[in-house]
Amino acid sequence: MDQFEHHSDTNEEWHMDHAEAEQVLEDIAFYRTLIVNVIFLGKEGSENWVLVDCGIGHYCKRIMEAAEKRYGSQPPKAIILTHGHFDHVGSAKKLAEQWDVPIYVHPMEMDYVTGKRDYPVGDATVGGGLFSLLSPFFPTHQADLSKYIYPIPQDGSLPFLEDWRIIHTPGHTPGHISLFRDKDHALIAGDAIITVKQESSMAVIIQHQHIHGPPAYFTHNWKEAEKSVQKLASLNPSVAITGHGLPMEGELLAKQLNELASHFKELAIPKHKRKNH
Ligand SMILES: [Zn+2]
Ligand SMILES: [Zn+2]
Repeated sequence: MDQFEHHSDTNEEWHMDHAEAEQVLEDIAFYRTLIVNVIFLGKEGSENWVLVDCGIGHYCKRIMEAAEKRYGSQPPKAIILTHGHFDHVGSAKKLAEQWDVPIYVHPMEMDYVTGKRDYPVGDATVGGGLFSLLSPFFPTHQADLSKYIYPIPQDGSLPFLEDWRIIHTPGHTPGHISLFRDKDHALIAGDAIITVKQESSMAVIIQHQHIHGPPAYFTHNWKEAEKSVQKLASLNPSVAITGHGLPMEGELLAKQLNELASHFKELAIPKHKRKNH
């Protein structure tokens, strides 16, 4: 998306000095690339850390700088993608190149990140503001990550992350995953749920927190998206770090996530939308 790239280019210098991850738990931190979060899993100074998602394009340097502040020159063991949308993989190729590390994605997402298949074009008819209107112009064809990409093993275990397990949360995309840790119920949700109404440009700018369904303009299967939200609610997460918006925790998270799970049709599915592909 030209506008985003242009915007991030002009910001590149400004933010260079303060690309710094914000810590959520001792071993979880996030860094926002304009509108999308990347997540650092691993304690500060750890040699065994992993990056989840890679943000929009042109953020490679800043993500590396935030990583360096947290982990020194130690590159991550791997990159894991919650899904392949352009705003989550924009800097993936460069990061994998620079760090020389593998990228893991759900087997059902493989085709979309290796240039074999394109996502459906964004649905401008979902309403709700600028991002929806612009969404048909968002890239649906990704950079080809074939050189670095590996499917996540069938048993759902993540290489280099023994405490975490993969939860397949399709709907927003076919191979969308979330990461869940049983010992403290920490959840990395990608775009299965988000804490900012992504269709509203105002809400995106001020980052007002509220649990929402996945970004509507890109969600291709609402039935699966609903099941995925119910799956996540049943896990009873204590803290959620989502693809868009600020992290949420505790009672407020539980209340809003359960509300969304039981009233998904009214709360998340746009009144007007295209027929599913
Ligand atoms: Zn997405
Ligand atoms: Zn997203």
